[in-house]
Amino acid sequence: MTFPKFLLLMLSAAVLITSCKDDDNNDTPPQEDPTAENKKALGESAEDLLANETYDRMVVEFVYSEGFRPMQETIDGFQTFLQNRLNKPGGVVFVETVIDPPPGAPYNSTEIREIEEANRTQFTTDDTIAVYVFFSDGSSFGDSSNSVTLGTAYRNTSMVVYEKTLRDISSSTTLPVLEATTLHHEMGHILGLVNISEDDIHTEHEDEFRAKHCFVEECLMYFDASGLTKSEVARFLERRAQAPNFDPLCIEDLQAKGGK
Ligand SMILES: [Zn+2]
Ligand SMILES: [Zn+2]
Repeated sequence: MTFPKFLLLMLSAAVLITSCKDDDNNDTPPQEDPTAENKKALGESAEDLLANETYDRMVVEFVYSEGFRPMQETIDGFQTFLQNRLNKPGGVVFVETVIDPPPGAPYNSTEIREIEEANRTQFTTDDTIAVYVFFSDGSSFGDSSNSVTLGTAYRNTSMVVYEKTLRDISSSTTLPVLEATTLHHEMGHILGLVNISEDDIHTEHEDEFRAKHCFVEECLMYFDASGLTKSEVARFLERRAQAPNFDPLCIEDLQAKGGK
């Protein structure tokens, strides 16, 4: 690309950004959508989740169809995981919603959003921020015979854990580790890790080869949970009796946004 052409593109990008900002500053009040607080981009609610200034309580909704409930030890462990990092003096409450198996498995990203649209019951209110987790009875549409997606965080308070896939590729001994790792890892993305919002990184620990992941190999945010080969998953499970934790750099990032 020639230089003037490049410059022109840069300029038009700048104009686009400016016009978006103008729209945001518009004085007309936003439409009253009671779910609007839960329709933002990934990472945008990191501070609201970590600090207690705006929301004192948190509710986590687990949605699943019969046979795909996560293990009780995963649910209990998630409570501890959240209590360790989030400032929610009003408490963290779990709600479970059992649904009919949705049509269309394996699910693509549009279907995952439609499932949330049809089944989510918990939304952010005055003092309570709500997070939604779908434990999927189907795998991700993009999976191949060798490469799988374990989970995806796709909005500010929404994620899917591909429970069927976790069960297919683990044993009864390794399932608890894989379930906890996937759930905690996707929550880490919802909490803004690593460098999700581009401008708020406090330490240069985003992996240059795997965007939005941490370069510390022992960190919870190291593995990309999409497009993992089955042998990568097997190697990961071989070495661990429990889910990895955040490394000190990731914890520092969470603390900078009001976390513990
Ligand atoms: Zn990830
Ligand atoms: Zn890290």
